[in-house]
Amino acid sequence: MSFQRILGQVQPKRIIQNALLNNSVSHAYLFYGQESIGKKLTAVEFAKALNCEVSGPKDNCGVCPSCRKIDQGMHPDFFLLEPEKSSPAGRNAFIKVEEIRELQKKLAYMPYEANTKVAIIDGAETMNLQAANTLLKTLEEPPSATIIILISSNPYQLLPTIVSRCQGVKFHLLSTDAVRQILQQSVPSETDAFSEQELDLRTLRSMGRISRALEEDIEATNNCREEILHLLEQVSFKRMDVAFKWTRQWAKRSDKIQPVLDEMLNILRDLAVIKTQGKSTEIFNRDILDRLKPLAAQKSTGTLIAMFDSALQTKSALMTNANLQLSLDHMLIQFCEAA
Ligand SMILES: [Zn+2]
Repeated sequence: MSFQRILGQVQPKRIIQNALLNNSVSHAYLFYGQESIGKKLTAVEFAKALNCEVSGPKDNCGVCPSCRKIDQGMHPDFFLLEPEKSSPAGRNAFIKVEEIRELQKKLAYMPYEANTKVAIIDGAETMNLQAANTLLKTLEEPPSATIIILISSNPYQLLPTIVSRCQGVKFHLLSTDAVRQILQQSVPSETDAFSEQELDLRTLRSMGRISRALEEDIEATNNCREEILHLLEQVSFKRMDVAFKWTRQWAKRSDKIQPVLDEMLNILRDLAVIKTQGKSTEIFNRDILDRLKPLAAQKSTGTLIAMFDSALQTKSALMTNANLQLSLDHMLIQFCEAA
């Protein structure tokens, strides 16, 4: 294992490997970019390279005692802090000031075994003000032989004083090739391998994020799309029964409605692309192109735009706690008017 393990992310890898090769590693880094695109993986590989007994510092071997201990989270000079929920029922997870203080104590000593101590703080934006200010002191007077890597998918929530003390490294969404390759490598054996069709679908829908590619419930996605297509095919003042059956079903499921509306917006957008003879690579749901084409032929561009607008307005209204049943009914009446 080594930096080769990280697929995509050419730029961040180059920045880190150059720093390692030129002996110009900073005291503190901020790895930022969307969730689930390889920030933590890169930080761990970085920590391993700094201390690898075989391939360090320009890369790591993954098998020497130091690399193995870091991988297992058992290295005495490697620390990984992640936000924890204050209670099992709690909705938000935080990094507490006590945890930062604890980390500071550990960083104050010289390394036990390593060349360089590495502290990774994942979800750094979840530090409250007190925790962030405490960490700031360490960033202002960095302990020797220590590197701190902050990871954040919402860096704008961090204190500017913290951001300015770190070298920023931006991570980008993964390319479809990288997502596909990671998916193929993620299965334990050949018998578990994804079919070509499922690989395409998962890659396409991942939006460059690995967790989404792996966790997508394909059956639920297909059912949801099928229901939306049926609704869009049938919706009209003559078939109010179809419209209201759909709203009754979703009005009870406020927790699920936003992803459903996203799905609907994607489909309406795809229909408009087909209508305007856009490229098939621009179609998000191109695996069901056979279903989308006749529907696009059935609607005018004006109808599709009116429906898209209505779904978008409904989505934003529901974010501000509008009544779910009334909002969905209102949207479908607008659909009937547009159809
Ligand atoms: Zn090693």
